[in-house]
Amino acid sequence: MIPSEAEYVIVGGGTGGNVVAARLAEAGKDVLVLEAGPDFGPQGDPAWPSDIVDATRLGTSYDWGYDSGSTYPWTVGFERARAIGGSSDFNGCTQTWGHRRDYDSWAESGLTGWGTEDLLPLFQAGTERMRVKLYTADELTPWQHAWYDAAPAVGMPRIADLNDMDEAAGFAPEAVNIQDGVRVNTAFAYLDAARHLPNLTIVGDALVDRVIIENGRATGVVVHHRGEVVTVRGGTIVLAGGAYNSPTVLLRSGIGSFAHLAPLEIPLVHHLPGVGENLHDQPFLLMSWAGSENMTADMTAARAAGWAPDEQAMGKRASSFDTEAFDLHFLPYSPTHAAERKRWSVGTSALQPRSRGFVRLKSTDPEAKPWIDHRFLADPEGIDVRVLAEGAEILRELAATPELASLVGAEIHPGPDTLVPEALRAHLYRNPDNYWHPVGTCRLGTADDPMAVVDARAQVHGIEGLRIADASIMPQIPRATTAMPSVVMGEKVAQMLCEESA
Ligand SMILES: Cc1cc2nc3c(=O)[nH]c(=O)nc-3n(C[C@H](O)[C@H](O)[C@H](O)COP(=O)(O)OP(=O)(O)OC[C@H]3O[C@@H](n4cnc5c(N)ncnc54)[C@H](O)[C@@H]3O)c2cc1C
Repeated sequence: MIPSEAEYVIVGGGTGGNVVAARLAEAGKDVLVLEAGPDFGPQGDPAWPSDIVDATRLGTSYDWGYDSGSTYPWTVGFERARAIGGSSDFNGCTQTWGHRRDYDSWAESGLTGWGTEDLLPLFQAGTERMRVKLYTADELTPWQHAWYDAAPAVGMPRIADLNDMDEAAGFAPEAVNIQDGVRVNTAFAYLDAARHLPNLTIVGDALVDRVIIENGRATGVVVHHRGEVVTVRGGTIVLAGGAYNSPTVLLRSGIGSFAHLAPLEIPLVHHLPGVGENLHDQPFLLMSWAGSENMTADMTAARAAGWAPDEQAMGKRASSFDTEAFDLHFLPYSPTHAAERKRWSVGTSALQPRSRGFVRLKSTDPEAKPWIDHRFLADPEGIDVRVLAEGAEILRELAATPELASLVGAEIHPGPDTLVPEALRAHLYRNPDNYWHPVGTCRLGTADDPMAVVDARAQVHGIEGLRIADASIMPQIPRATTAMPSVVMGEKVAQMLCEESA
């Protein structure tokens, strides 16, 4: 049963949404969470799928099934979890914050309250609540350790922690939200402590079609729930559907570009051309090597000893295009749970992409998949491809050092055919990939920015009572993986809502 009204209606029980819901409920507010996928209950409930709970690998069940469609010659998956916890159910549990320049540049663009010093306490609160711990070097698997040991040779000193917001280069064991082998998603970290409260209601299998706007104010949502279509009234509606789905809810509600709504015969409620635009993620390349007998034996032993997660350490460094901080990540990746898949990989990603894509509706049916075009490496200056290529060259240089060469063996992907820069760039253009960090489709911005969707209060421009609290509001992606920044979007919106209602 869905309540017919609530003081705060949270659309999407994912990463940002659960943070807002728990914080508001703990502050005594009447809160309703509407999650399109199932609510499996508290941590420990046997309904939770094992792949979502198991932190040694990425989660896969209850995926929204989004992909690049026919944009490229093959299909790039844009995985997103459709279940309570959202993409915190699937992710690699790496928690990075970025660099001071990231958030200070938001504040410098006029977004008062969004600078590093404003957000730092929220990063700390999120880190505590998500039960984040730091791996030590002696916990790293042999594959992770080998790259960590060698990294200083290419300008990445071994450091203790990646989350010093003033540090620009280094290689460190990761900070992870893993406890006793369990991926601590935001349902466990935030909702569980509030589930007993009578003022918090969580409804799964509740797909929000659209927001009802009356006289310029959001007053409720239309929800598809187990074969029925119901209306729920709300004092404040907080969208938290993520970078692919918050814009689709707005578009179905008539908030967006007239040019995109008209062909679908969606009546225009408010012309906001930025809705669904500014989509960006960090382009990614997974390189792999043939491995060696020594490494195989060491990793087999590590796996036999029990705990051998795919991801554990990471490096950061500037390419020649970033003079402020860093714009490359390096990520040893070893899917050791699949004993038969001997793949020795390291990913690199360009953290400050210039290219921008979009999310648009193909249909008014809320179950229809949207049109997602990231336009990876499409910036006219060709900088994104060059930054990513520099990442690949740095990994090649590292793999050739005496410490690593005998352990990693010959490069097999992208391989010897791509040794000249033109061939490497051609390979990258032909094989775009994502780092699973889409942001920006409902971006924060001041009223004089025509492409802004929400203001510094995270309120949709021109509509009262409608907030957004997820990765979609980040105007520019931080030099980070986006899980903790998404938690911080939730913390910030909850903080502002609590202050406003005090
Ligand atoms: C495979 C994978 C690996 C990743 N690895 C990492 C990592 O190691 N480190 C890191 O920092 N980041 C990682 N990320 C990214 C990170 O998890 C995301 O950036 C972050 O979780 C996004 O949070 P969000 O709140 O914006 O969206 P989500 O967490 O996706 O939440 C959106 C929620 O809204 C629900 N929803 C959507 N539409 C509707 C609707 N119409 N009605 C009702 N509910 C709706 C969804 O079902 C979902 O629960 C990874 C992501 C993936 C997919």
